[in-house]
Amino acid sequence: MSTSNSTSENSIGSIKKEHISGPHWEPPTIPNATTYWRCTSCQRESTCEQDLHRERFHAPSCEVHQ
Ligand SMILES: [Zn+2]
Repeated sequence: MSTSNSTSENSIGSIKKEHISGPHWEPPTIPNATTYWRCTSCQRESTCEQDLHRERFHAPSCEVHQ
């Protein structure tokens, strides 16, 4: 493990809020409807908001990598 790379890929909180849309609620017609969050750039969705704060969750072309 090198400590020279200060931009840890595991760091939480580097994703801008403007890229995170949510929480969204699934229609109640869906069994086990839940809430989810979506990236406004790469459109990836997760039921766990923490996922959106991980750079690795996003698509390679996502704006969070810019
Ligand atoms: Zn994204």
